Amino acid sequence: MDFEGAVFRKGTVTFTMRLQRDMSGIFRKGKQSMNDTKQDKQVVRSGFVAIVGKPNVGKSTLLNRLVGQKVAIVSNRPQTTRNRILGILTQDGCQLVFLDTPGLHRPRNRLGDYMVRQADSAVREVDLVLLVTEPTEQIDPVELSVLKRSAAPVVLVINKVDTVKREALLGVIAAYAAVHEFEAVLPISARTGEGVDELLSVLVQQMPEGPAFFPSDALTDQTERQLLAEFIREKALRILDKEVPHSVAVEIERFEQRETGTVHVSAVIYCERESHKGIIIGKGGAMLKRIASSARVDMERLLGCKVFLEVFVKVKQNWRESDAFLKNLGYTE
Ligand code: GDP
Ligand code: MG
Repeated sequence: MDFEGAVFRKGTVTFTMRLQRDMSGIFRKGKQSMNDTKQDKQVVRSGFVAIVGKPNVGKSTLLNRLVGQKVAIVSNRPQTTRNRILGILTQDGCQLVFLDTPGLHRPRNRLGDYMVRQADSAVREVDLVLLVTEPTEQIDPVELSVLKRSAAPVVLVINKVDTVKREALLGVIAAYAAVHEFEAVLPISARTGEGVDELLSVLVQQMPEGPAFFPSDALTDQTERQLLAEFIREKALRILDKEVPHSVAVEIERFEQRETGTVHVSAVIYCERESHKGIIIGKGGAMLKRIASSARVDMERLLGCKVFLEVFVKVKQNWRESDAFLKNLGYTE
């Protein structure tokens, strides 16, 4: 398999590599050319790790923390993550390929159906499963079914420990230990980073011996267009109210680098109803302005250059039921 074209690398984006532009933003972690395989050869352990769990437990936050870059968007709404997202971390002779999955929930439309299948297939294809949960003693039936179906060993991650007292964790650990034999149980906070280094060293120990799957500076298999579209969707999820965000899809229509070194991006936010369009645009365009300007900040951070962003809003009725449209957005197997 040839991943080269599709891989989003540390410090560079695929389009800028074609233009041979030097990226000096925070994204760069050591210069490497496409053919630099020196580091890759030092990789002696490698494997795939599925991050699964209920919606909103912090799976995507954990992925970003582990990889050290924002490759998955985060919001306090359930079902933020729609696709299976790869995050890649190569360090100390080990390459870990993380699969961030949509939360396990009951599907209500074709998009939801696709999301559940993504999460479900992930636990059957990996070397290790990370079951992420919150510090409560109630075990959800979907968690039990993941444990039952997983062919790989499972590490339990109790996330958001910053929200509870230490003593409360004992009960949680006991409850989970009673239903499954975990390889390890680790309390962490993806938000503060507490416990994440310990988690990483456990993961490395669990990986089988083997060479790297991706170049050592790869971060994700998403294209820059996908990442930019996701940044806009994240802001829409955070800023918009109630049911509107779940009916939103984002497409990058134009992505262009100018001589001056700036990047010009045109994006379309699709929604399902005329009334939603009004809400997204807001009074005098105020809402759309908020969404666009905060997305632009993330884009500039990622690309390490100035970004001009224009965003349009269009109505596309029932897009969540349209196979052709879902395919166009990349929601396909
Ligand atoms: P996912 O649906 O499982 O991918 O969850 P997200 O990563 O999108 O996070 C859901 C919400 O939980 C967001 O508002 C995060 O900021 C929040 N969150 C994630 N990790 C932590 C944590 O360790 N502590 C606290 N307090 N909140 C967290
Ligand atoms: Mg998520």
